[in-house]
Amino acid sequence: MANPTKRLAARIARRVVGPRLHAKVKAASQRRSVIREAGALTAFLREIGCHFHRCSSLLNNPVPLGIAYRYDIHVRDIPGARLLAEFHRAQNVPATFFLFWDYSPFERQRFEDYRELGRLISEPLEIGLHDSPIDAFLIRAEFDGNRREYGKWTDSDDALKWLADLTADSQKQAGLNQAALEDFVGRVRQTRAHFGPFSLVAAHGRKMVQSLRKKLPSLSPGAQRTVEGLRARHWLTPERVAAAGLDRCVDHNQYSPPGWCEVSEDGGQLSKMARVLRQRLLTEKTAVQFLLHPYTWAGGKRDAELSELLSLDKANPSIALQS
Ligand SMILES: [Zn+2]
Repeated sequence: MANPTKRLAARIARRVVGPRLHAKVKAASQRRSVIREAGALTAFLREIGCHFHRCSSLLNNPVPLGIAYRYDIHVRDIPGARLLAEFHRAQNVPATFFLFWDYSPFERQRFEDYRELGRLISEPLEIGLHDSPIDAFLIRAEFDGNRREYGKWTDSDDALKWLADLTADSQKQAGLNQAALEDFVGRVRQTRAHFGPFSLVAAHGRKMVQSLRKKLPSLSPGAQRTVEGLRARHWLTPERVAAAGLDRCVDHNQYSPPGWCEVSEDGGQLSKMARVLRQRLLTEKTAVQFLLHPYTWAGGKRDAELSELLSLDKANPSIALQS
């Protein structure tokens, strides 16, 4: 390639076409893995006799081997969620996409991407709101929308002092809860205005609680109770959910019905997910709500593939039954 024109062409290809082609190849491979793995999971579930429900109907009536899909959609989950919306519609398998669109300015910057995803969600799919009311309130009211500064604070001695004050002062605690509730009701209203009617909320587990929970053993019993109470899955009580005009919070908490459980891929831990899934469905025969993040299959790291983990069961169902 001594010819200078060719050299220039190669350089242009690397710089311009190269990255684009690379992005295209990457998108195609993510698409293949999302569709393949989602297909392997539904094929396994159908084979062992599961049936698919909406999150709300499974919570109201947790029938054995009933399955519901909950997808929590953070910004990085959006590309995978588009593919999964297409997959679920083609398979006619209900799913709820809980949009984490209004947490902080970082998410609100991606509003158009969320809106575009919202347009892909129609029967038998639905949207819900993914939310962490105390975190979202503090980020807005105390940190001027800066979730990074907020994150630092949650891991500081100042946060521990704040927690001690809050624990000692029930009026302060009531004030915080009231203000966070007003914010939450506002976000639900906004979500309806932008994405249409919906009835479910799913709790987002971070940020404060994650940092503070690590310190739980060193906290006083009162402070421990305060932290637990601020945790979105506990904070979203039936009363607060109803105050926002919603039907329920779909998390596993003190209000979850017996015979119902949640199974998650927990940041790419597919081996564990497959193990727990077998236990729940084949041994205990409970109702299972999945909590999945599309990013796991569209850019994220996985310790194994469901298509391999679950095809073993197909080859020898008795192994699965015993395990
Ligand atoms: Zn989340």
